[in-house]
Amino acid sequence: MDDLLRLDDRLTADQRLIRDTVKSFVSDRILPYVGDWFEEARFPARELAPALGSLGLLGMHLQGYDCAGTDAVSYGVACRELEAGDSGLRSFVSVQGSLAMFPIWRYGSDEQKEEWLPRMAAGSAIGCFGLTEPDFGSDPGNMRTYAKKDGSDWILNGSKMWITNGSIADVAVVWAQTDEGIRGFVVPTSTPGFSAPEIHKKLSLRASVTSSLYFDDLRLPASAVLPGVTGLRGPLSCLSEARFGIIWGVVGAARACLEAAVSYAKTRVQFDKPIGAFQLTQEKLAWMYVGTAQAGLTALHLGELKDAGQLEPRQISFGKLANVRAALDIARQARTILGGNGITLEYPVIRHMNNLESVLTYEGTQEIHTLVLGEALTGLGAYR
Ligand code: FAD
Repeated sequence: MDDLLRLDDRLTADQRLIRDTVKSFVSDRILPYVGDWFEEARFPARELAPALGSLGLLGMHLQGYDCAGTDAVSYGVACRELEAGDSGLRSFVSVQGSLAMFPIWRYGSDEQKEEWLPRMAAGSAIGCFGLTEPDFGSDPGNMRTYAKKDGSDWILNGSKMWITNGSIADVAVVWAQTDEGIRGFVVPTSTPGFSAPEIHKKLSLRASVTSSLYFDDLRLPASAVLPGVTGLRGPLSCLSEARFGIIWGVVGAARACLEAAVSYAKTRVQFDKPIGAFQLTQEKLAWMYVGTAQAGLTALHLGELKDAGQLEPRQISFGKLANVRAALDIARQARTILGGNGITLEYPVIRHMNNLESVLTYEGTQEIHTLVLGEALTGLGAYR
């Protein structure tokens, strides 16, 4: 599709190379199969992780420890192209890089970094991030999972819910209350007392593994705690990293829906004309294009702020709120243009549409990001 605003002209040659490399990976290794994975509710993580690692996409914006060390816009462009394939694929990469590797990289000890980051960058070890609990989603500060000191060890008890990659992970970054406040723990999933049953019957993000985590008197050495952070700002800083990837990623999902709708509208004939020749269809397509391009502009602007070290959490809330809403509207409009074909997995649209329902909720719901903006505008917090 034409880049009418010539947005990608603003990318550097390196960023364009990353775009083209990820796009061709998605076209060869994801698009021919992802409809089946979605239908079968599976994500072939062990096959894909090393391939994603060899492309430098795991922890790609982190420096050192065999990570690619790219700028933020490059990471965003990669997320955009991954999510044009499927939000489950982008979620895998976001969780690995931004939610599991980032806290180890930012707050971990040298030993934790050496032990996990190179393997995670290569895709030979998979990570997950346990913050949400059955009773605490938008309000993680009240979490019940508790780590208690026993001599120099920690004993972890509690549970987490909706954890992406949970049952396929080699390592879980788990956030728990302690006598000192919320701390992060690097938990090898082989530790006795750890279990991670998969959550089934999802109708969204089906090509993504989602699990509960249970910790039953799980004993951890003193060296398991992330030494560099205490309090909710630890997990929130990880979420800021991952939300940045979502802001870009959903532009890819929206673009994929728009492309499918344009191509369908040009070939589907009703009343002796391609449906794309009807003004009502063109109005939908025009607004879908406007929404996709505006979301792309937002992503690029926030990416440039991030590369300048100036990106603030409330700006990330703006981007997550605006771009996910836009992408979901675009997916829904695309679905109408495809008529009955809009509800089958023969086309990508309903898969993206259903996936975006999860993206709307995870990493801070629309309502929570609305409240962040409301507070930014009024100075008045309305969370409780
Ligand atoms: P709740 O917090 O119970 O919210 C329910 C509704 O109430 C929402 O509409 C919400 O906006 C609204 N609400 C809540 N508080 C307020 C308020 N103060 N004012 C107005 N409205 C309010 N979590 C992880 O830790 N790790 C993961 O890897 C992970 N992966 C996920 C993957 C999927 C597919 C999904 C669906 C979720 C995942 N999550 C993960 C959890 C996700 O972050 C939570 O679902 C999300 O934070 C919302 O929490 P909740 O589902 O408990 O909803």
